Amino acid sequence: MKQKRFMLQESELPREWYNIQADMKTKPMPLIHPATRQPLGVDDLAHIFPRECCVQELDQTNAWIPIPEEVLEKYSYYRSTPLVRAYALEEALGTPAHIYFKNESVNPLGSHKINSALPQCYYAKQEGTTNVTTETGAGQWGAALSYAASVFGLEAAVYQVKISMQQKPYRSLIMRTFGAAVTGSPSMSTRAGKDIITLNPHHSGSLGTAISEAIELATTTPGCKYTLGSVLNHVAIHQSIIGLEAEKQMQLAGEYPDMVIACFGGGSNFGGIAFPFMRHNLNHGKQTEFIAAEPESCPKLTRGEFRYDFGDEAGYTPLLPMFTLGHDFRPANIHAGGLRYHGAGVIVSQLLKDGLMRGVDIPQLETFEAGMLFARTEGIIPAPESSHAIAATIREALKCKQTGEEKVILFNLSGHGLIDMTAYDQYLNGDLVNYQLSDAEISENLKSVPENLH
Ligand SMILES: *Cc1c(COP(=O)(O)O)cnc(C)c1O
Repeated sequence: MKQKRFMLQESELPREWYNIQADMKTKPMPLIHPATRQPLGVDDLAHIFPRECCVQELDQTNAWIPIPEEVLEKYSYYRSTPLVRAYALEEALGTPAHIYFKNESVNPLGSHKINSALPQCYYAKQEGTTNVTTETGAGQWGAALSYAASVFGLEAAVYQVKISMQQKPYRSLIMRTFGAAVTGSPSMSTRAGKDIITLNPHHSGSLGTAISEAIELATTTPGCKYTLGSVLNHVAIHQSIIGLEAEKQMQLAGEYPDMVIACFGGGSNFGGIAFPFMRHNLNHGKQTEFIAAEPESCPKLTRGEFRYDFGDEAGYTPLLPMFTLGHDFRPANIHAGGLRYHGAGVIVSQLLKDGLMRGVDIPQLETFEAGMLFARTEGIIPAPESSHAIAATIREALKCKQTGEEKVILFNLSGHGLIDMTAYDQYLNGDLVNYQLSDAEISENLKSVPENLH
C-alpha cells in the first residue's frame, strides 16, 4: 500500500489556538500561593512569566485565542506538519485498525516543543523583556527555546539537568549554536543550586532543581522572564495547533478518530493533540477515547495522587492541583526514555479526575520494542518519549485484531530520536531493564507533598 500523507494549504492553517478550559464543565482548581494560601491572579504570576502567558494560563472563558501574526509567520517555516496513515505499521501488526500519526518531528528542532517556544519568546519580546531563562532535561525544550530566543532577538540562559548534559552532549551544543548560555544544574550560580549541592554534593540534577534555578534567575534579574516547556495551561493552549491541524487533516482522510493517544511528560503534546478533539466530546456528544502513555518508572497518572504540590524541587512555584508523585521525586537513573517529570498539568489532572481521559503506564522495554517496529515499518526513528505513544497504539491495535474492530487510532509522534541514539545503543546492547516502583516507594515520596488543601 502506498503511504498516504495529508497536508494543509497555507489558507487552511489554524489562526487561533484552542483553550479547553472554556469548555470544561468542572473548571481546573486555582493555583495557590504557598505562603498566603490564596488563589493566584495574573499579577502574582507576571513577575515570573510573560504577562500574556499568565493571562492565557488563568483564562477559563475564551475558547479561542488569536495566534499573533509574527508567530504565524514563524509557524509557516514548518507547519502544517504531516498527518500520515501508517499502513506499513498496520500491516506488520495485522490489525484491522486504521492508524494515523501526526508527525511533529518535522521541524528544525525535531520535537513539538517549538510550537510553544515561539509564542513565549514573542510575548516576552513584546513586553520589553531582554532575557529569557528556562530549564531542560534531555534538551528538547532548551533547544526549542534557544532557537525561538534567537529568532526574536532575546538572550537565553538554560539550566540543563547535569546528568543529561553529561550523557547527552549534542543538545547542549545545539543550544549553544543558537546562542544560548547553558549551565548544568544544580550549579553554584544560584542560591537554590548552592543549597541543593550543600545538602547533596553529588546531586546529578533533576527537572525540579533546574526549574528552581531558572525561576531564581528570572526573579532576581531585571528584564528576564522564565519560560516553561510543558505542564502549564498556556503551553497546552499553544500546542493545540497540533490537534487543530490534525482535525482538518482527518477530514481530508475522511475519518474521525475513535482513539487519540500521546505520550505524557507534563501533558503538552498530549493536550495539544487531544483537546481539540475532546471539545467534540464535551460539546457535541462524540465518544472518542483519550489515552496518555507514561513510563512505568514515572507513573503519576496511573499511580500518583491528586494533590496540591509544587512544580519544582525547591518549592518556588505556586501550588498546583495535580496528579503527582511528590515534587522531589527522582526517577531511577536507568530510565532512558525521558518523561521524568513528577507531576501532570492542571487541566489534564482535572480531566483525568473527571474520567474524560485515561492514563496507561508502559514498561521501558516495551517502548523500545515499539520504537524499533515503528522505525522498521515507517522509516522514522522515534524519540524514546514518543515510543510510549507508539507502544500504547500497538496495544490498542492488537486488541482490534482480536475483536476485528476497525477502530481509527490517531497518535502524536512528538519528536524524532536522532539525537537520542545512545538510548537506542543501550537498548540494542541489552543494557536497559524495566523498573517498576513499589507502592511503598510511592507513598514514601508523597510524604514531602504539602498537606492536602481539599
Ligand atoms: C518534552 C517531550 C515530551 C514530553 O513532554 P509533554 O509536555 O508531556 O509533551 C514528549 N516527547 C518529546 C519528543 C519531547 O521533547
